[in-house]
Amino acid sequence: MLETEKFLNYKIIKSNKFKRLTITIQRSQHIVVSAPNRVSDKKITEFIEKNEQWINKNLERLEMETATKSHTYLEGDVFLLYRETYKLAFNIIDDELYNTLEGIVENIIIEREKKLIIIPLYNKNLCQDSLRDIVLEFYKQETQRIIDTLFEEKPFLKQLKHNIAKIKIQKSNSRWGSCSKNNNINFSFRLAMLPTECIEYVILHEITHITEKNHQITFYKKLEELCPNYLKYEREIKRIERSYNISLA
Ligand SMILES: [Zn+2]
Repeated sequence: MLETEKFLNYKIIKSNKFKRLTITIQRSQHIVVSAPNRVSDKKITEFIEKNEQWINKNLERLEMETATKSHTYLEGDVFLLYRETYKLAFNIIDDELYNTLEGIVENIIIEREKKLIIIPLYNKNLCQDSLRDIVLEFYKQETQRIIDTLFEEKPFLKQLKHNIAKIKIQKSNSRWGSCSKNNNINFSFRLAMLPTECIEYVILHEITHITEKNHQITFYKKLEELCPNYLKYEREIKRIERSYNISLA
């Protein structure tokens, strides 16, 4: 009868505690509709129908978040990149063409529209370890590229760069960045997973450590001068850490 009944499974909770109709999508992907007692089931169905697009969009998002939870490094594996989910795809090319490539990682294509990370391979049966190494190296190079671009294109970052002794991208799964007592700054190769403004925040956070080694009030005062919205970016990173698998080991 109604399209939504065929596709969407939802639970209705009626109570006068609720002032209006609301739809909640739980992390388990269950849909719950809260309704005041007086609202008829017909009205609820109509409400669900009206919001079907929104529901489907959110269900899809949750599904992709879940898909990043464990990596197989095989075709179709889902990764977080530039704050969005990308699927791994293989482009099988013949030996001859393959031998002309300078490197696999250098020839990976990012299809932003289709959200694909396309790896050129001559052999589909490459072992999982090799595929994982390719993906890890890709993240390292992509993070390096993003950081280089930011330092190049943002004048205030370019200025601040002079205070850094050395910058290194590390295959670290534990921290986004760190600053040594000698002012060497290390960035995690997973930074490419974050939106640019959060990467910029991580850079500014580590630069602040050049003069303020510990997270004391003076640290946050200086950080705020460099990055007035730092709390917003910290929250965003925390949200990403909770929702996705941000480990690449
Ligand atoms: Zn810190």
